[in-house]
Amino acid sequence: MLRFAPSPTEDMHIADLRVALFNYILSVQKKEDLLIRIEDIDKEANVEGKDKEIIGLLDLFGIKYSNVMYQSENVKHHRTMALSLLHEKIAFNCFCTPATLETKKEEAKANNKAYSYDEACLSLSPEQTIDNEDAFTVRLRKPSVDVEFTDLINAKLSFSPIEVDSFIILHADKSPTYNFACAIDDMLADITMVIRDEDHLSNTPKQIAVRAALNYTKEIQYAHLPNILNGSGEKMSKSDEGFNLKSLLEEGFLPEAIINYLVFMGNKAPQEIFSLKDALEWFDLSKISKSPVTFDIDKLRFINARHLDLLDDIELSRYVGFADADIGKLAKLYLNSQEASTTKELKAKISAIFSDKQMPEEFAQAASTMKAVIKNAPFFEEFNDFKSYIMKESGLKEDFFFTPLQLLLTGAPNGPEVEKMYPFIKNYMPEIVK
Ligand code: GLU
Repeated sequence: MLRFAPSPTEDMHIADLRVALFNYILSVQKKEDLLIRIEDIDKEANVEGKDKEIIGLLDLFGIKYSNVMYQSENVKHHRTMALSLLHEKIAFNCFCTPATLETKKEEAKANNKAYSYDEACLSLSPEQTIDNEDAFTVRLRKPSVDVEFTDLINAKLSFSPIEVDSFIILHADKSPTYNFACAIDDMLADITMVIRDEDHLSNTPKQIAVRAALNYTKEIQYAHLPNILNGSGEKMSKSDEGFNLKSLLEEGFLPEAIINYLVFMGNKAPQEIFSLKDALEWFDLSKISKSPVTFDIDKLRFINARHLDLLDDIELSRYVGFADADIGKLAKLYLNSQEASTTKELKAKISAIFSDKQMPEEFAQAASTMKAVIKNAPFFEEFNDFKSYIMKESGLKEDFFFTPLQLLLTGAPNGPEVEKMYPFIKNYMPEIVK
């Protein structure tokens, strides 16, 4: 079983989708199920409705899973296991106040030292514990030996006991911490492989230590994905274009294009344009880039245009408010002349064709003459016949013919050649020139 474990605390972003996608691909390749675990135990951070939104996005992107569960369903198990660790003295109560701990962290920082817990409460006597009415957390004793694991992307990694630390497993309100809950949930769900962002790399030895303390010996494979950077070389964040999935979809990027790009990025793909189904055949997790990858919105635009171009003409026309193959073909002219690369841009181009046109002062007279001629013109199958008729009837020439014609028919001074567009707009002439 593999899992995707989103926190319902913020909008789903591009790096989350990459994690979900790679877990899905691996689940198909390994012929195992994919579990969606909504990590909802940080009640204050949860945002109402985000869980449903995330699941809706997974469905939209074609990521199939066998089950959805909520981490809060397992809190009873987290507590029971913490109690048993306390009982076995592998875990201990810690009465250090947040203020004391903060001061110690600041001291370490001032001395340029990495902070680790000073074990102040490790050896309290039973009396010191029982008679103490102060709030306490529960900590897991740090391991006695290094924690080692082989990451599928980052090779062999080793963490010293001090790096793992005697960390908190139950907060003062006795709710489980992320590392404790996550380690137990992966164990309970019989997870075989965890694919997640490299931000979690330092959590992994802690989670391995939790399961070792619980005598769970089955190995879980780990793959930590390198960060996605913005154009300035920083880790991508909310303020970067392309980060938020909902915004990308609103901008008119197709789910299949976003998936194509995410698999393509930092990978050795046999071709540039492919479907998720294709990627299931050749995707090799061990071959993805070990170093951070840079998000390139222009590359995504290019891939999006290619996916739009692959759509059936009528289907494409639906994205711009029609159900007509001619409009789909017209949209493809805009895609192939690099005038548009998203459905939103296409919609703007096509609606400009049907809107009331603004004429620059110098062409106002010519355009008004031409408009009257077009409105009274018969239907012409061929562009050349149409052009000759308008030219003859209007008496307009050269620039005073071609520029107003382009503006009247397309609403824009440039774009695909009118001659190429004509076959697809000829039936709409009364709606275009009103
Ligand atoms: N809930 C964590 C997050 O959204 C993921 C934890 C994990 O994959 O282990 O970052």
